[in-house]
Amino acid sequence: MIRVNGIEYRRPERPVVVVCIDGSDPAYHERGLADGILPNMARFAETGFAALADGVVPSFTNPNNLSIVTGAPPVVHGIAGNFFLDPETGAEVMMNDPAFLRAESLLAAFSRAGAKVVVITAKDKLRRLLGHGIEGGICFSSEMAGGCTIDEHGIEDVLDLVGAPEPDVYSAELSLFVMEAGIRILERDRPAIIYLSLTDYIQHKYAPGSPESNAFYTALDDAAGRLAKMGAVVGLTADHGMNDKSAADGSPNVIYLQSVLDEAIGVGSARVILPITDPYVVHHGALGGFARVHCTGAEPEAIMEIVRKLPGIEAVHDRAGAAETFSLPPDIEGDVVAISDAATVIGTSEERHDLAALAGHRLRSHGGIAERRVPFVLSAPLNETYAARAASGGLRNYDIFDFAINGTV
Ligand code: ZN
Ligand code: ZN
Repeated sequence: MIRVNGIEYRRPERPVVVVCIDGSDPAYHERGLADGILPNMARFAETGFAALADGVVPSFTNPNNLSIVTGAPPVVHGIAGNFFLDPETGAEVMMNDPAFLRAESLLAAFSRAGAKVVVITAKDKLRRLLGHGIEGGICFSSEMAGGCTIDEHGIEDVLDLVGAPEPDVYSAELSLFVMEAGIRILERDRPAIIYLSLTDYIQHKYAPGSPESNAFYTALDDAAGRLAKMGAVVGLTADHGMNDKSAADGSPNVIYLQSVLDEAIGVGSARVILPITDPYVVHHGALGGFARVHCTGAEPEAIMEIVRKLPGIEAVHDRAGAAETFSLPPDIEGDVVAISDAATVIGTSEERHDLAALAGHRLRSHGGIAERRVPFVLSAPLNETYAARAASGGLRNYDIFDFAINGTV
């Protein structure tokens, strides 16, 4: 038995492969199943297990990926956004450094116990967080697959192994390369645990049922089918969903919260931090459904009063309320948290968001409560204990490793 963050894991008898399909709103799966383009996922639902689960809010990539590999909410692992305001320095900091981690991942724990562990991410920014503490395993990104070394990544010649060139960071291939690499490594090494974390480039750009998203999901389904066929227990979930955030005329529904607050209470009284902000903003203009407000003059209650009245806002919390409601670490939480509804995103001020990059596409994004629902699929059936747990409700995306390792027959 291996105990990590309060959960006991048995040693898997066959390889366990968990795929985090970034931004995979349940709508893609429902539509794909209805259209008959996901034969393997349809089979998993029939002979394995399929349900919906809740992810972490803020429904962003880093907090959810870290929850999946630790089996715990952000209050335990410490990663509450892609980006945060460091309370010590007042600087906006990317949360991609393992120094911010407050808990060990189950991947690291398994590797220390001698299990072979493999992590492949689409974007390199997640690699160091997800790979932290893994001993003797493999951990690399498809974004930088060409530069892998045994020393740093535990593998080399990845492009030869996969038989494909290094994919573009803004492409469907970035995710599909992760799947193909996972298949080749499963075949070659038969590791105990593989975690494959994709990117939501397609979901930001293309709605369910579009030719582009259909092509992507068809390829994904095929890869998942091949993993299962090779004898792995395959778990599929997502970090968050995705919603259309544009009006009928195609213009995005944005609350420019910094501008609203500057006007209402004066410049310098509050600072809005968007935890979605990261260096890869082309497809969402750094607009998401969750904002943190740090008070630099105004009282939190006064800000909450203003935010509550804004059309498109679904929820407003103070620091303690947000930490309690969403199991977030209170010490790095905003004084006020603003969450927009399914059709709306929050920005800072108009001039700080480059919407030209959307290039005619409708804005699709995530971050709020409206994007926390995700698919939860296993290729193998649940044992009695876990079937009962699933039936009692409250399933989380970060239960996926527990279910895949301990809960399948
Ligand atoms: Zn994501
Ligand atoms: Zn995204």
